[in-house]
Amino acid sequence: MVSKIALEEHFLCPGYEGYWATTVGGVAPDALRRISARLSDFGDSRIEAMDNGGILKAVLSLAGPGVQSEPDRAVAIRMAATANDFLAREIQKRPDRYAGFGHLPMQDPAAAADELERCVRDLGFCGAMINGHTNGQYLDHPSLAAFWERASALRAPVYIHPTPPHPAVMDAYFKDYPVLSGAPLGFTLETLTHTYRLILSGLFDEFPALKIIVGHLGETAPFLLWRTTDTLGRRIKMPRAFGDYYRTHFWLTTSGAFSDAALTCSIAEMGVERIMFSIDWPFQENLPGRKWLDAAPVSEPDRAAIFGGNAQKLLKL
Ligand code: ZN
Repeated sequence: MVSKIALEEHFLCPGYEGYWATTVGGVAPDALRRISARLSDFGDSRIEAMDNGGILKAVLSLAGPGVQSEPDRAVAIRMAATANDFLAREIQKRPDRYAGFGHLPMQDPAAAADELERCVRDLGFCGAMINGHTNGQYLDHPSLAAFWERASALRAPVYIHPTPPHPAVMDAYFKDYPVLSGAPLGFTLETLTHTYRLILSGLFDEFPALKIIVGHLGETAPFLLWRTTDTLGRRIKMPRAFGDYYRTHFWLTTSGAFSDAALTCSIAEMGVERIMFSIDWPFQENLPGRKWLDAAPVSEPDRAAIFGGNAQKLLKL
């Protein structure tokens, strides 16, 4: 039987509760306490939940936005290192069950690049997770070139994870329906926008080795890819077609998107080797995610690749 690997599985460490609480508006205090307790546990309850879903290994990442919403650059740099050291210690206790993505102070591109290098080289992490924009700055900003250059040189995959949308978008799109601003729609639009902007910025022409992971089956990108590629192809000159960049540089996970239709579309657009199993624990439960993929309409070899084989290759686990 194939080893199941999940790679959008979150944790909290001491000092980070305040950053995280800003993203969960509208959740009842009781539920908030329950989720926070699960995020902070690295022992029996997390392992039991993983066993329930048959998950052998979880690549852990800090629940966002973390220091990416910190106004003080020096605090962000210091706290990101603290979170990464904390995670490294937890992984050391159960290296057979846990791996990690680094948390980065994107306010300072040089410091973020150095911290990424430390995470990959010294702490043995698989790459890093970035929670969308940092205080309103998008990931294609020219000041981040040095960061992307380092990610490329290290061959370190970068997972782009949702965060609450830019304040101007929050106001224009979601003021009247705040309940839509997170997972129901806002997270998707925010994350999808980063991926599209990165392609248009020419980043992948400059750093052809960059590898980007996106959760929630690409945040609708596979469904949109034909139309985006078709219309952009008639409107601007790009060295390669838009969809070609997407299929070359992006890998998708099933986090929080347990849909046969979305999976079928993603495989058709991306190829099965680009799709990796994930849950988004504890915001989704492990068992329903595993049961869904167990029964999804794919061949047994493809199921095994999605459950773990593809992640094993990409993250060198
Ligand atoms: Zn997540």
